[in-house]
This record gives sequence, structure tokens and C-alpha cells, in this order.
Amino acid sequence: MSGNIKSAEILCVGTELLLGDIVNTNAAFLSQELAKLGICVYRHTVVGDNTERLKTALSSALEGADMVITSGGLGPTYDDLTKETVAEYFGREMKLDERSLGRIEEYFKKTGRVMTENNRKQAVMPEGAVIFDNDYGTAPALALCGGENDSKTVVMLPGPPSEIVPIFKEKVLPYLAARCDGVIVSRNVHIFGMGESAVESAISDIMKNSTNPTVAPYCQQGEVRLRVTASAKSEKEALDICDNTISRILESEVGKYIYGIDIDSLERAVVEFLRKNKLTLACAESCTGGLTAKRITDVSGSSDVFLGGCVTYANEAKMKLIGVSSDTLERFGAVSEKTAAEMARGVREALSSDIGVSITGIAGPSGGTPDKPVGTVFVGISTSAGERVRALSLSPMRSREYIRTVSSSNALDMILKNRT
Ligand code: ATP
Ligand code: MG
Repeated sequence: MSGNIKSAEILCVGTELLLGDIVNTNAAFLSQELAKLGICVYRHTVVGDNTERLKTALSSALEGADMVITSGGLGPTYDDLTKETVAEYFGREMKLDERSLGRIEEYFKKTGRVMTENNRKQAVMPEGAVIFDNDYGTAPALALCGGENDSKTVVMLPGPPSEIVPIFKEKVLPYLAARCDGVIVSRNVHIFGMGESAVESAISDIMKNSTNPTVAPYCQQGEVRLRVTASAKSEKEALDICDNTISRILESEVGKYIYGIDIDSLERAVVEFLRKNKLTLACAESCTGGLTAKRITDVSGSSDVFLGGCVTYANEAKMKLIGVSSDTLERFGAVSEKTAAEMARGVREALSSDIGVSITGIAGPSGGTPDKPVGTVFVGISTSAGERVRALSLSPMRSREYIRTVSSSNALDMILKNRT
């Protein structure tokens, strides 16, 4: 067996993949598994069931990477060519492996099916291959080393996900782990209230000068996530490398916009914050129509902290249910700082919660006016210390869904940060 494996290419074989009949879930699965081993995946390639193109793809992949993992083309039919092509590439003979043949015969007996002559093909292996038994189907998986000093490895796995996943985890992983000396670990830093480009420029020195860990930003629905990824000899060492960089990010300008690390959502951060501080919450929503209450109650255990909410869409409802004054509505309008403050206080008093939050705005696409265009939203918070209101001017070009989501995220964010 050859030396350490540091890089790999994933080569999926199957015309159905090229036709778009099936989605290449095997490549995604293998990439995730290889990352855990600290093996860098350089490329994903797909080729049809065609020997020449498979040979070309194989030689191109092995030029750059230490290992190629293939999926598919190990079946019994004439178009299953992977093993034969790899053997030819490395100049190996094909030979019947009696043990594999015995297992395939067993498999057919067990499943009550008739074994055809071409199933024998699945037991014919390149000389020198390491064979991984398949307990979930007929085609065994295999690894073959070749090239100069056997420095290149090709691992061949069957196509069906129901086979590749267990074989990889049970048989191939231990084989590869013995030939790798690293792990890759990622941590996610969650940010709200600062745009992606502002985040990037605030920490550009950390992002640009770092290859281990790498820091990559992802943006979604008004939030930014920084994925910090480190590779090291052990998981602990990789985590320490990540945490070092995360500390620097926390100390930067971005720090005060971070609502959590490795947390799955803003609403979960809110529920955890309220539980920790033994606080209760109520909300009054207009343009978000209950979205904030929905997001909070998506988190299991939210009943400890969330008392309830009112969807007060019409002025009547704002007055009757949560005591917004008719004077405020007439003078300032339903979408105003004053109405948001009264909604937050009103719902807090109606439900006797520690905190009340409110959202009133114009989600569009219709309903905007020159002085209150679509995207004008007021988010209020009320505590025993009084009321604060955050005024948002979201882009009128944004969708109704985006404006509603970001408005509700701002209400959640105000609970965490209690600032406008
Ligand atoms: P078989 O014995 O079934 O012929 P095989 O190893 O030759 O197995 P393929 O014929 O290439 O594998 O694929 C069998 C089935 O596995 C495909 O019809 C498809 O449903 C699934 N499959 C193959 N490749 C992939 C892939 N990359 N991602 C997801 N599913 C796949
Ligand atoms: Mg096949």
C-alpha cells in the first residue's frame, strides 16, 4: 500500500447522471466524508458509461490528485466498465476472486433470486486489489494502487446510494483513515445586522491572510454566516485553530453583530437567551402576520419563555386588542414609530410578559406611498425600562417574503441586543 492520501477527485460514472435523470448525491456524500478525513477534494467529474471517456477522465484526475474515488459501473452488465478500465489503466490483469464469487452466490441464495452468468463478472477483480465486501448488494467495492511507486489509489464503489453509504462508512473509511493524517473541522459564526460586504471589509485582513483556517462568508435572508474551516492532525487541534480565529472575529467590529456560534437560527438564539435570563416574551405583529410567533414556536422548549402574540392587521385590532390609541393611528399612521412603540407596550401589558416586541410596516409589492415606500418597517421593543423602536428602510425591490422575514429577524435581534 502506498503513502499518505492528501487529495482526491470524485469521479461518478453513469449516463443517467449526465442526462439529469438522477441527481449526483454520491458526490456530495463522498465530499463530506473525505472532508472529515482531512482529504482535499479537488474536483467532481461525471462521465457516461463509456470506456474511452472514463479512461481520459481517470488519467486527468490522477494527474492532480493522490486518489480517485469512483461511484457506479460495478454492476453485471456490459455497460458496467469501471473496474476493467482502471485495471487497464494501471496495467493489471483481471482474475476471478473465488471469495467474492462465493459471497455473491450466497447473496442470491439469501434473497431468493436466480444468479445469472453475468453476475460472475462482479467477482472478477484486478490483480492486487483490496476488496471490500458488499453486505448490501452484489458488487464488492475495491481499491487499487498503481502508478509510480504505487503512489496513486483508485477506490471503486457501487452506484446505488443504499450500498455506497454503508460500504463507505463500514469498510472504506477505516482503510482511508489509516492512510490519512488529518481532520478538517468547521465552525459557523452567525451574524445579523451587518451586510456581507461590510463584514468582509471589517475582517478582510483575517480573511485574506488565512489559509488555515479559511474563512468563507455566506449570505441568506439578511443574515451572514462565516464558515471557519481548519485542518490539523487531531480534531482538538483543528478546533483550537478555528477558535483562535473566531476570537479575533469577536474582537473585530463584526463582534457586536454576532448572535451565536454553531447555532441553527436566530430564533433559537432568542429562546436560549430568554431561558437563560428567565424572561418571558409576547409579540404584536402587523405586516409579518404572525411570522415571528411562528419562528419562535418552531424552537422546541419555547413554551418556557413565549407567552403568545396578537396578529393586529387592521387598525381596529390594534386598538381593541393591544390598546393602540386612535389618536396615534390618526396622527402618525399604522406604520409609524409611535404605533410600533404602543403595540409593543400594549402586548406586553396585555400578556404580562417581561418583553413585548412589535412589527408594523409595508411589505409590498403594493401599499407604498412617497413618504412611506415599500420596505418601510418599524420594529418596537418594550420592557419595564420603556420602549425603543428600530426604523428599517428595506429595498422596495425586495420580495414581500424577504421584507417580512428580515423584519421579523430584526425583532428577534432587538430582543438579543436591546438596542435600536
Ligand atoms: P448496479 O449493480 O445497480 O448496476 P452499479 O455499481 O453499476 O450498480 P450504476 O449502474 O452506475 O451502479 O448505478 C446504479 C443506480 O445507482 C443508478 O440507477 C442510480 O439510481 C444510482 N446511482 C448511481 N450513481 C449515482 C450517483 N452518483 N448519485 C446518486 N445515485 C446514483
Ligand atoms: Mg450498473
